[in-house]
Amino acid sequence: MTKKVGFFNLSLRRVLADGLSILDGARLRMLYYGLALAFFTLFVILADVLYQHHVILSITTGVMFVSAAVLFKFLTYRPRWTLISHLILIVGTIANVVDIFVAIQNVDVVTAEVIILIMLFSFYMLGQKPGLIYSLLNIVPALALMLLQYSNNYVIPLKPEKVDQNTSIVAMFACFVLIAIIISHFYNAFIKTFTELKETSEKQNGLTSEFEDAMRKAQKSSEAKSEFLSTMSHEIRTPLNAVIGMSNLLITGNPRPDQRENLEVLKFSAGNLLSIVNDVLDFNKIESGKLIFENIKFNMVELMQNICGGQTLTAHAKGLAFKLDVDSGLNRKVLFGDPTRITQIVFNLISNAIKFTAEGSVSVRATCIEDRHNQVTVNFAVKDTGIGIDQSRLDLIFEPFTQESISTTRQYGGTGLGLAIVKRLLELQGIKIKVNSTPGTGSEFTFNMIFPVSTEIYEPAPKQQQLAEDNDNLSAVRILIAEDNPVNVMLMKKLLSKWGITPTIAENGERAVELVQYGNFDIILMDLQMPVMNGFDAAKEIRKMRDHQKSGIPIIALTASALFDIRERVHDSGMNDYVSKPFKPNELFEKIQMLMKFPTSSFKFSDTPVVP
Ligand code: ADP
Repeated sequence: MTKKVGFFNLSLRRVLADGLSILDGARLRMLYYGLALAFFTLFVILADVLYQHHVILSITTGVMFVSAAVLFKFLTYRPRWTLISHLILIVGTIANVVDIFVAIQNVDVVTAEVIILIMLFSFYMLGQKPGLIYSLLNIVPALALMLLQYSNNYVIPLKPEKVDQNTSIVAMFACFVLIAIIISHFYNAFIKTFTELKETSEKQNGLTSEFEDAMRKAQKSSEAKSEFLSTMSHEIRTPLNAVIGMSNLLITGNPRPDQRENLEVLKFSAGNLLSIVNDVLDFNKIESGKLIFENIKFNMVELMQNICGGQTLTAHAKGLAFKLDVDSGLNRKVLFGDPTRITQIVFNLISNAIKFTAEGSVSVRATCIEDRHNQVTVNFAVKDTGIGIDQSRLDLIFEPFTQESISTTRQYGGTGLGLAIVKRLLELQGIKIKVNSTPGTGSEFTFNMIFPVSTEIYEPAPKQQQLAEDNDNLSAVRILIAEDNPVNVMLMKKLLSKWGITPTIAENGERAVELVQYGNFDIILMDLQMPVMNGFDAAKEIRKMRDHQKSGIPIIALTASALFDIRERVHDSGMNDYVSKPFKPNELFEKIQMLMKFPTSSFKFSDTPVVP
């Protein structure tokens, strides 16, 4: 805090460091001027008391005079104000006590002034505690002497030294000036500190409002980015669905072998693109904090079978063994949780396992590691015998848009979003995912999830295959399609014409409600996002109709929207079921069949989300 200077320096400015606080600056200045004044005053008093032959006063004044000179020099050489203050106070206190008890044997005005001076000095220079100690060390002897004199108990064999008027006046004057120096310096320091504080607080306020502005702007731009991504992804999904749908249609229309091959490539690429768009959409949704977890009933065995159904085929097509092992303890249990999210997490892990394994096997396990009466802890594990991951890259692979290496990107493609989504989905539920991997040997991803258990016993849903056998002719079914997108309409028409169905088309929800009012339909396929009136509202209107036949018409929602919260909303608006675009023709066929047979059926807890 202070600068080093030569021994012969006498200037205070030279020893004052730049970063000194206002209060410390005031302390040093006060010491400097106070010691200088004390030095001259004590010189005068010393001369006076020597002249008057006061031995003890001469000694105490002399000691104080020499101390003032030495400390002044010390201050201008090494301005260690705490040490100097203590030394001044020790010398001052000893001199004061000796004066009171021995030299003058009295508490006169000058003594009282000296005590006040010591009190002010010790409090301002050293703070409360030392201030209190030095004050008491000076006040108590003065009071003690007064009490002893009052009770006539004070006897000392030395005659008191009486100073003459001149000395008293000089001493009194010096004390007043010293008190004034102390108070004025501290007052100035106080005012300066106060002004500085005010300025800082004003600056702070300015900065806070700037910061808030920046935060608001950042928030807005982040919202705009999310909005943009979401709109773009949705806009991309719609034509992509049409491409996939058309490819499906053409493949089922007996194409030549070379055409079939081209169509398969087309379908595969469009499907790939769709999953990338879905990943971006999902990641965006998670990042923007809009994700809400469901808490609905489901059965783990059924869910896992559903997730692995398509994956088994993919693995087998690659020549890999695929094994699903779900704890038999979970067979009859109905759990509460978010099957859509679990699907997304496990599906991503399995897709990676298959993608990064050239030979060997992929195994998926869901093991019940703890079963209390109303909750179970399930350990999920996805293991492969693939390329593995280097230890140093294990953390990185969970970062968005990050893959293990450039060659991974080149060889396997992908966006690097899958594991980022998995990690975030788990983190949002307070779960940590673990990876065990050895390059060249394989990887295992594991995590634990806790589920509350319902008191219900799970009953598997009737097999839909049987339905197809019972009735595979839908040509008599009267279908109303509410859909605004002409390409999708064309697609649906072509698909339904294969089953001998000629549907009626409504270009928005309002028109669909009108048509239901005046026409007769067996089933409605309802797009959800439409102009004028959306699918949810249209379904609600239909369910409100007085004619029970009309209000009870089975409705299947057609949704292109990403996988979030759609299930519940479809259910809440009274629709029986939904298919995600691009829907698989068989899936739609089976759902129509099912509803024709059991018109009041709707997806219950036993239904699991459609695998993306
Ligand atoms: P993507 O699969 O689109 O590349 P992910 O986020 O799913 O993105 O995975 C990130 C990276 O982690 C992958 O690119 C790959 O390098 C590595 N990885 C993930 N799963 C496995 C696995 N089972 N075996 C080997 N490497 C894997």
